[in-house]
Amino acid sequence: MTLIEKLIANLSRLPGVGRKSASRIVYYLLKADNAYIENLSKDLLNLKQLVSNCTKCGNYTEIQPCDICSDRLRERHVLCVVEEPKDVLSIESINEYNGLYHVLMGAISPINGIGPRDLRISSFLSRIGEENIKEVILATNPTIEGDTTALYIIDLLKNKEVDVSITRLALGLPVGGDLEYTDKLTLARAFMGRNTV
Ligand code: ZN
Repeated sequence: MTLIEKLIANLSRLPGVGRKSASRIVYYLLKADNAYIENLSKDLLNLKQLVSNCTKCGNYTEIQPCDICSDRLRERHVLCVVEEPKDVLSIESINEYNGLYHVLMGAISPINGIGPRDLRISSFLSRIGEENIKEVILATNPTIEGDTTALYIIDLLKNKEVDVSITRLALGLPVGGDLEYTDKLTLARAFMGRNTV
């Protein structure tokens, strides 16, 4: 396999990149300046070394705790629960929410063998008490897995009889969709019209 073929094969593994785009990227890179290629390679090498999960919320960060967790100006008694770090980015982009986050790193999915213990649920429960959380916003995806996870968390909180109000993002999000692909306006509406559960 030539270097060009190897790079095309490796880039085709990236989400959303097919063989055709992968080969376009490789031919583009062959013509690009050296400085660009060097910076890109350096950033790729640093990515796994410098970025880790925030010990508090689970979001990706280069500092511990992350910028959001250490921001004193945010509402510190509201916790928005999401499945993945990329969901934090989607919600931050609508500028509607000023509380804290908790990233579960997935959703309950019996078919894929993912149960509550595989998710960051026990650290979520500890935060409720330790950080005196007053409102929990469930912003898991509107999929079977996301709904199952939301219901599981609602049950947990109700069984523990903690004094916290629980809301779920309002419907109107496309069912089976993904927070990441929801447009900003729809996501902002879902946030403003969230329902108490
Ligand atoms: Zn954090």
